[in-house]
Amino acid sequence: MSNVIIIGGGASGLVAAIHAARLNHKVLILEHKDKIGKKILATGNGKCNYTNYTQLPDCYRSSGNSEFIKRVITAFDVETTIDFFKQLGIYPKEKKGYVYPNSEQASSVVEVLRMESHHLNVKTLCDVHVEQIKKDKNQFLIRTNKGNHTADKVILAAGGCASPNLGSDGSGFQIAKELGHHIIKPVPALVQLQSKEKYFKTIAGVRTDAHIKLFVNDSMVVEEKGELLIAAYGVSGIPILQVSRYASRALNDKKKVHLLIDFLPMVSYDDTFNLIYDRIQKSPTKNIEEILIGLFHNKLAYVMIKEAGLSPELISSTLTKKQIQSLTNQIKLWKVPISEPNPFDQAQVSAGGVDTSEINPDTMESKIIKGLYLTGEVVDVDGTCGGYNLQWAWSTGAIAGRSIDNL
Ligand SMILES: Cc1cc2nc3c(=O)[nH]c(=O)nc-3n(C[C@H](O)[C@H](O)[C@H](O)COP(=O)(O)OP(=O)(O)OC[C@H]3O[C@@H](n4cnc5c(N)ncnc54)[C@H](O)[C@@H]3O)c2cc1C
Repeated sequence: MSNVIIIGGGASGLVAAIHAARLNHKVLILEHKDKIGKKILATGNGKCNYTNYTQLPDCYRSSGNSEFIKRVITAFDVETTIDFFKQLGIYPKEKKGYVYPNSEQASSVVEVLRMESHHLNVKTLCDVHVEQIKKDKNQFLIRTNKGNHTADKVILAAGGCASPNLGSDGSGFQIAKELGHHIIKPVPALVQLQSKEKYFKTIAGVRTDAHIKLFVNDSMVVEEKGELLIAAYGVSGIPILQVSRYASRALNDKKKVHLLIDFLPMVSYDDTFNLIYDRIQKSPTKNIEEILIGLFHNKLAYVMIKEAGLSPELISSTLTKKQIQSLTNQIKLWKVPISEPNPFDQAQVSAGGVDTSEINPDTMESKIIKGLYLTGEVVDVDGTCGGYNLQWAWSTGAIAGRSIDNL
């Protein structure tokens, strides 16, 4: 039986604790918030989207090898996750592949994890901040703000640095770094993007379907479709969150980032031109602003016309083909320069962390420090929106917990 200390009572730490305790190890969780599982409570807008039946390679992202991710996710996969939670009492509810507890309460997930840990005699100390871990021969010394602890094995499950008010403040990266690991610099991911364009103040509040393409140094990197939310600072909505980690990384590397937004994704470029042309033919006395009524939100239409270099009062029948083309470009190929992502306190995850080449994917044990295991967002893997970050936390936590061997 090993004496195991887990740093962080979040998603991966709780699942690691349960798996280690089921193998009869003596487990202690050190958590610096006043309660465990605070971030889980905020997931899925309080409903906890805890996994997803659709598992594709590009649902997980990393600077490292994708084979590492595949090994981890298949070793503790979606079915195993759903069974694990079912055994604890969580009846799954599926919506288009996204899985939630049937109660639609994230608190149910925290409760069942807490009850199972308690049942297995896992000890938890809250309000304890871990400052440093040192290894001396076969023992770990864990220094905290409330005294020291020793352990045979340590699971570092301290999360990343997104939404620090919910607990993870990046201290896990610092601890791993001091132990000799290479940290891929964390950047905000699943986050809104800012633009300095002045027109955002005018169109703030508009929601519309769009197809967005993200360009880094003028090369397209990734594209997404979905509902775009426009804010005074820039852009938000699921498609923006999905591409944001590439924007954050590129901006951090001092590269130029812009979006190309198609505001009429269901209509081709030529058909959009013809659509505007036909509307003008049918109502030649209307001005351009009136021509766009019913096609776009009026605030958006106004800015489209202005950005196309036209005056909203211009009588539409006077428009040249070139001017209709400028308007079509604005509708189908609106270029938005991105200045920065919103900060970590608005991000759902951080992209970056311990280099996966320093971790054994079959055990989550560090290749640098024997007996140290790394889980969840501490590792340089981030998922897309849709339950993938929690799946990563559950898989890595379970693998680490069940890989603790007897001394
Ligand atoms: C608003 C929001 C909504 C989200 N919704 C979803 C969703 O619906 N589906 C999904 O898959 N993912 C979602 N995520 C992401 C997901 O919650 C995280 O990726 C996941 O919780 C990470 O698990 P973890 O174990 O690595 O870290 P965490 O769950 O963050 O746990 C880390 C724990 O360690 C503690 N800790 C940190 N440092 C120390 C220290 N030095 N000493 C002691 N304790 C420490 C923290 O307080 C925390 O309790 C969401 C995130 C946010 C912020």
